[in-house]
Amino acid sequence: MATRDLPRYPLTFGPSPIHELPRLAAHLGGPRIFAKREDVNSGLAFGGNKTRKMDYIVPDILESGADTLVSIGGYQSNHTRQVAAVAAHLGLKARLVQERWVDWDDPVNDKVGNIELSRIMGADVRLDDAGFDIGIRDSWQQALAEVEEAGGKPYPIPAGASEHRLGGVGFANWAHEVVAQEAETGEFFDTIIVCVVTGSTQAGMIAGFAEIEDAGGRTRRVIGIDASATLEKTVDQVTRIANTTAEQIGLGRQIRDDEVIIRSGWEGPAYGIPDDSTIEAIRTTGELEGVILDPVYEGKSMAGLYGLIRNGELTEENTVLYAHLGGQLALNAYSSIFE
Ligand code: PLP
Repeated sequence: MATRDLPRYPLTFGPSPIHELPRLAAHLGGPRIFAKREDVNSGLAFGGNKTRKMDYIVPDILESGADTLVSIGGYQSNHTRQVAAVAAHLGLKARLVQERWVDWDDPVNDKVGNIELSRIMGADVRLDDAGFDIGIRDSWQQALAEVEEAGGKPYPIPAGASEHRLGGVGFANWAHEVVAQEAETGEFFDTIIVCVVTGSTQAGMIAGFAEIEDAGGRTRRVIGIDASATLEKTVDQVTRIANTTAEQIGLGRQIRDDEVIIRSGWEGPAYGIPDDSTIEAIRTTGELEGVILDPVYEGKSMAGLYGLIRNGELTEENTVLYAHLGGQLALNAYSSIFE
């Protein structure tokens, strides 16, 4: 089934807005830069990229008859906050495993921002000491078993909704949305810049743009900027999920290696820990455009965009679309950086 024919339960306001960042582009010198804003895509708990992924998972949740969404992430996971919001919206329960993914000792790390919102929305939030890993975790399997033992019917949503057969479809649809917005505005974005960690955001975009290209649309590059600091695993995961998504949307072929482009160098010392380039990107984008980025994801992908302009990979020949995927709530646990 093509992307447009797959069952969808819209959780977003509609197409996310695209706008230009002219002062930032003038500062960096090089391509025109636009942003597509997933950070304002929904009225559900500030939205973000996971809300779009959930658009295509909700029909499966409803069909399963589950009463509890079970998911996992770090203490400041944007994903688990969005799962809590979707559960509240659908009248379901949420059981969230929040692991110590980041070695960050801000005293309010497990209290403010994303985790606070999940608690407000009534999710059953359980802290776990385990460190960062984008794969399937024991603690999550155990949470699923516990919900069952208590007589509930769990619906499993893995970290970032990535290792789910429908996890990439929301961003395949995003690709179609971009093409429709291009037709309205007359712009053509030859380069997409997107942050990558658990992989299904970029993987979905790759599959969606492949579908468009195979139907005669123009060729473009989707450049992932790694923020996982476990590059090899991430490249494997994006490739695998892009192929799963290709299957779901009936692409009829495998994703080619040259369609999976991931650049590293802006991931900082570890997942969740910013470096000078992250902080420069957050400050400069804030000062020049009033656009707010976080230190875990978007600050790093924006640092990557700055870097690709400075190293000459992106020039005035390009028109860049920066995917702003959300994440600002985590800033509450990083106040010391900006004191
Ligand atoms: N940006 C934000 C704000 C996120 O919450 C995430 C989630 O991990 C990402 C980027 C990365 O997306 P993905 O996990 O699909 O690679």
